[in-house]
Amino acid sequence: MIKSINPATLEEIGAVEETPIEKLDEIFENSRKAQKMWAKVPLAERARRVVDVNRVISTQFDDISHLISQEVGKPPDEAFVSEVYGVADSTFNYYSNVVDILGREEEVPLGFYESLDKRSLIIRKPIGVICVIGPYNYPFTIPFQQIVQSLMAGNSVVFKPSSETVLTGKKIQEIFDEIDLPENLVQTVFGSGSKLGNPLIDNAEKVIFTGSTATGKRIMQRGANTLTDVDLELGGKSAMIVFPDANLERAVLAARWGCFTNAGQVCASVKRLYLHKDIYDGFLDDLVRKTKELKQDIPTKPNVDVGAMINEEQLNWVEKSVKAGIEEGAEILVGGRRNPNFEGYFYEPTIMTAESNDMKVVQEEIFGPVLVVLKFEDEEQVIEMVNDNQYGLTSSVWTEDIEFGKKIAEEINTGSIMVNEVVYTFALAPTPWGGTKNSGIGRTHGKLGFYEVSRPLHINIDEYKEPDLWWMPYDESYKEIIENFKNIASSLVVKDNY
Ligand code: NAD
Repeated sequence: MIKSINPATLEEIGAVEETPIEKLDEIFENSRKAQKMWAKVPLAERARRVVDVNRVISTQFDDISHLISQEVGKPPDEAFVSEVYGVADSTFNYYSNVVDILGREEEVPLGFYESLDKRSLIIRKPIGVICVIGPYNYPFTIPFQQIVQSLMAGNSVVFKPSSETVLTGKKIQEIFDEIDLPENLVQTVFGSGSKLGNPLIDNAEKVIFTGSTATGKRIMQRGANTLTDVDLELGGKSAMIVFPDANLERAVLAARWGCFTNAGQVCASVKRLYLHKDIYDGFLDDLVRKTKELKQDIPTKPNVDVGAMINEEQLNWVEKSVKAGIEEGAEILVGGRRNPNFEGYFYEPTIMTAESNDMKVVQEEIFGPVLVVLKFEDEEQVIEMVNDNQYGLTSSVWTEDIEFGKKIAEEINTGSIMVNEVVYTFALAPTPWGGTKNSGIGRTHGKLGFYEVSRPLHINIDEYKEPDLWWMPYDESYKEIIENFKNIASSLVVKDNY
């Protein structure tokens, strides 16, 4: 059995049976059978049937939020807004747009070849069995959205939740079991990645993985054996850049929420705060004061802002990283330790300053409630500092001059960048989600997410009645044809200079 432990109280809240590795062959066989049937269902009907999860979810908002809260350690209201609402909103969005995105036959202009009565169409087809491997930090909304997109596109899904959040994984399976889908179209397997990971990768047509960069790289290496396609949604070290003309009151609150929501266990968390030298002291004083006001407690108690981290291992990682930062010269302004008032895995909301962008605390992901603050002189310097990092998931620029903000945004090497916002763009179902550099490969959500779970099929149609010009025999008459081709090729030279 895999036990689920409440990280705030250390109580066992339930358990699921581990999936034996020997069962995977049967699971994939059943998945393939279900997928074949499902692919025959018209796209609009598939979308209509999948969106029915929203009806099921709407009857249990509080139960689901509470379950996530208990399993991950975040306040239930936060779980509702960031996870349950996120699923309902995105599922409805995908239902409303999928036919437009995947259902259209795209006719492609072919230039010269059209004169030979040829035309090309591109349509989107399902891929097959998609394996969704989820992380622990948003165990409901992240895999759920990936499963919804995969299903609407005509695939079947084998889903492996994190071993830390098996009950939320089980809940997802139960929700899909309640709607009208072919049997085995969605199947959930439980177990550690080290045991189940390789056979899942070997058997699936595609893996959508969300988790750490180290695991993502292992998955991609394994996928190379079978050329299993991968979408990797990995770690981050998002920066928030604040210029003096920003709405500073809003920016302080954004930094506080952006760093400490979900106890800092967010891939897109504000992890690096770059403050312009003219506002550095005042901004930081205010932020530290407001951080001290946060209430950290058992998350199911009323009015709690910050709950627990997921487990001892993650907490130790944060503790070690912060200690290493202090040794490097970082200065703690608030927090900087495990919260001594709890037996559970609570780490205090922490703000530390760093002198140099090269320090490990600035460069490496610390997956917990830890913010590192740096000072900058001007825009060129800050762009360089922000981009000098292995990760590229999200970042934000804060200024009241929107054109200036956009200009800076264009220089930052991340998958998403916000002007005057933090973190929340994961919730925007129609926009692409994904990173650059060590933050990953591929995009989920929106149109690009649907492209990721479907394959383009190019259909070329020929209504030419004669043999094609380039066919054999390569005799004397062929030379004339070649001359004609040369004339055409010469006409394709672009002559005007820019
Ligand atoms: P993790 O890499 O430890 O685990 C993620 C999942 O991978 C789990 O289900 C785990 O069981 C599985 N796994 C582990 N080894 C595997 C293997 N060899 N083969 C296949 N699967 C394997 O990550 P985590 O601790 O659950 O999540 C935290 C990390 O995820 C952070 O780095 C965070 O930044 C990142 N994350 C990224 C995003 C994003 O959208 N980019 C979102 C959430 C979390």
